[in-house]
This record gives sequence, C-alpha cells and structure tokens, in this order.
Amino acid sequence: MVNITALLSTLITANHILHYHNVLDAMGHVSVRNPDTNTTFFIALQLGPAVVSGPEDIGEYLVEDGSPVKGTMGGYAERYIHSEVLKRYPDVNAVVHSHAEDVLPYTVIETGLEPVYHMAGFLGSNVPNFDIETAYLPSDPRDMLVNSPRLGAALAQTLGTNKTYPTSPAHTTILQRGHGFVTVGTSVEQVVDYAYYATSNARVQTKALLLASAASKTGSGSGDGVKYLSKQERKDTSNMNAWIVFKPWKQWVKEVERSGRYVNDLGSTPTPTGSGG
Ligand SMILES: [Zn+2]
Repeated sequence: MVNITALLSTLITANHILHYHNVLDAMGHVSVRNPDTNTTFFIALQLGPAVVSGPEDIGEYLVEDGSPVKGTMGGYAERYIHSEVLKRYPDVNAVVHSHAEDVLPYTVIETGLEPVYHMAGFLGSNVPNFDIETAYLPSDPRDMLVNSPRLGAALAQTLGTNKTYPTSPAHTTILQRGHGFVTVGTSVEQVVDYAYYATSNARVQTKALLLASAASKTGSGSGDGVKYLSKQERKDTSNMNAWIVFKPWKQWVKEVERSGRYVNDLGSTPTPTGSGG
C-alpha cells in the first residue's frame, strides 16, 4: 500500500523546488501517477506552483481522458499533456511541463537543444520539437495551449516509442515551439532532476554558442564551435544521472524548506532511499 500523503507531500515540494529554481513560473506544472490505481494522476489545481501548499490544492484526474475524479473541481487547461503522456507510456510516472525562459529560444531556432555537460545526457540523441500547428484543426483557436485530449495525444506521440521497451518513450524531453518543454520520468524526484538540468543545460549551451560565435567572428573558430557530448557519453551520463538523482533531491528539499518562501501543510517531505553518490 502506497503512502499517498507522503506522495502528495513530495508533489507539493516538487512544485516549490521547480519554482525556486525558475523552472516553473506562475504557469507550468508537475504531475505524478497514482500508484494505487495506475489509472489516475495527481496535479495541482489552477494555482501557481509557489502557492500550492496542501492536499486541497491538488486534483486527481483520469489518465484515460484527463477528466476529474473524486470531487475534483476544475484544474489546469493543459492537464491533457499529462494524461496523454501517462496513457501512452505506462512506464512514465511523472511529468513536468515548463515555460522556462532559458529553454524557450531553442523552441524557435534551428539549433537544437543538445547536452553540453555531464548532467544532461538524458536529453539523448536529440530533443524533438513539437509544433502544435501540425496538430490543429482549422476550427481550433491558435492559443498554443495543449488543452484537449487530441492535442495532448499529438504531443505525447512526439516523445516516440522506445524500440527496446515499448511501454517507455524514446525521449525523456521534448520542446514545444513557442511555448516551452515537457520532460518525463519514472518518479517525481527524477522528473524534477530532468526539468532542472534541461533548463541548466540550456543556459550553458546558450553561453557556449555565444562565445563560439564571437570567436568565429574574430577568426578563431568555425561552425557552431561547440563540442557536445558524444553518443556514448550521452548514454553513460544518463545512466549516472539515474542513480545519483537522490543527492540533488535531498539538497533541493532542504533549500525550499529552509527558504521560508513556501508552505507544505503535509510536513517535511520524506527522502527516498537511494544510492545518492
Ligand atoms: Zn503551457
């Protein structure tokens, strides 16, 4: 039997961590599958991540179609991102959708988001860019929101199917043109780690590209001038990231608990056991 109170406490703290580190603004959200049912998931109601503070701030929805259950009223218009990803990939248990400014430029330029350092190998061989224009019907408003099961399914498809493990996606992370990004994991802790390091990697990549561009103008560089992780480095550092995830998680929990900026009515967030490194 899973301790749902502990899981909801972890979800509340995940909202705070992602806000504290500027991964989520007043928008953006993080969800977790209900391990007791596997057919529902938890996600905050229509609240900014910083002010999510108790179980009354969290709704429960069907994975099947994103409809509310157990008296849940309202919720995020874009919860279909979460329902459709969780439906298509049974191995995924947690999802983050973010509008992080550091990542946004990569959604509208040709240069892809590429892992430039060892904490971002999980970005894999490439980070696909979901262009919602390809999924619109003529009658759809062009508000860029993934606010229906149909648009959510189109986004989920962009994650691809893992050839070896077809219940898993081929990619951990996708961009959304002119909107943000989505990253997925097997736990709240892992998806927070992915969201944090996808955003961090974008900042580093931007600086590297700017420096390389300046160098090429002075004749000391060529091409985009940035050496990204190799295929093998992406694979091996991704494995490393998976087992070390509890080390940053422990620090992030303490940071938000001691910051005085957030309230978690469910008390101190339990720290899962893990290797930690
Ligand atoms: Zn959004």
